[in-house]
Amino acid sequence: MDTKEIIALENRFGARNYKPLDVVLERGEGVWVWDVEGNRYMDCLAAYSAVNQGHCHPRIVNKLKEQAEKLCITSRAFRNDQLSLFYRDICELTNSHMVLPMNSGAEAVETVIKAVRKWGYTVKGVADGKAEIIVCDNNFHGRTLTIIGFSTEEQYKEGFGPFTPGFKTVPFGDAEALKQAITENTVAFMVEPIQGEAGVIVPPDGYLKAVREICSQNHVALVLDEIQTGLGRTGRLLAEEHEGIEADVTLIGKALSGGCYPVSAVLSNAEVLGVFLPGDHGSTFGGNPLACAVAREALMVLVEENLVENAAVLGDYFMKGLERIKSPHVKEIRGKGLLIGVELKAGAGGARAFCERLMGLGILCKETHEHVIRFAPPLVITRAEIDWALSRVEQVLIP
Ligand SMILES: *Cc1c(COP(=O)(O)O)cnc(C)c1O
Repeated sequence: MDTKEIIALENRFGARNYKPLDVVLERGEGVWVWDVEGNRYMDCLAAYSAVNQGHCHPRIVNKLKEQAEKLCITSRAFRNDQLSLFYRDICELTNSHMVLPMNSGAEAVETVIKAVRKWGYTVKGVADGKAEIIVCDNNFHGRTLTIIGFSTEEQYKEGFGPFTPGFKTVPFGDAEALKQAITENTVAFMVEPIQGEAGVIVPPDGYLKAVREICSQNHVALVLDEIQTGLGRTGRLLAEEHEGIEADVTLIGKALSGGCYPVSAVLSNAEVLGVFLPGDHGSTFGGNPLACAVAREALMVLVEENLVENAAVLGDYFMKGLERIKSPHVKEIRGKGLLIGVELKAGAGGARAFCERLMGLGILCKETHEHVIRFAPPLVITRAEIDWALSRVEQVLIP
């Protein structure tokens, strides 16, 4: 089947909840992907940061095959020999005390909502049914009903109510607003270190440090959603390290498996995850041996191939290269490491058209919101590959 036929088939049977670019991919390797006609593209989205280690990383794929032939799933009704090793490695690497494995990012978010509520009732002493969680404007934490209920994006919510109560929003990047919003019923503040889906919004320097202090002073759990910013993307293993803080709970997902399998995790101090008792929470696939083996290997690849450092150094290089392109369309370039947003001026006609032109030149990007092009390639990218990309971005940004 060619591109047209595949797209027609997809449109005939599939729900229309996505509007992808019209490119049909069949193969990937490192930063590169190929479509069914044999055209090659650089993947500058990296599946929203799920393939930080690059497409089909041979070590991760081999581990996947090896473990798949031994044992895929036991359910948590029984133990498996991979889970404890995954626990040890992820806790040592991230300085966490306790971990709870899930599959998707949204499930990790749902898990933490349950955990901090129960922590609020049983440890902090909040009156039953009163627990409040504070989140930020323009947040993105996933697509389940509870999560979209505290989104400020109208389209995410429209037609899907009623929603779960118990959430409050404050402006992102404004520590004072958080302080004002906290009450005796506040159990947690959940925030992305950089808002990815909102258009790569970087908060002012010192913001995370300030919210850390405010949360500590008020006995409020600080939950960082690092599902997109974590695991090397911003040039640190976790983005919290840029400000030298430690969250009480950190959520990771996406690149945790190098994109080979859905794996997410809630990382926590012992106090918050410690509230769960047998029967309180679970997932059939969460913590299965295939997921654990793949995630361990994906973490080892990040460390042993110095991908975190590569993201820092080459992220800087990419950003400086973008800044050198003197385009009349660009309003602002921002980001950290290899999470970079190029915001176009309102009159530029929207980022989608630019992404389509980039596709014509062999670069796959996705607009976030209307006016931002996100550049977030796999962290295995090289300087020469960035130069290749920059020359094409320049052709598209300069009329
Ligand atoms: C992608 C993402 C999620 C949701 O992850 P899914 O695996 O798509 O459910 C949550 N939070 C952030 C910050 C994300 O970028």
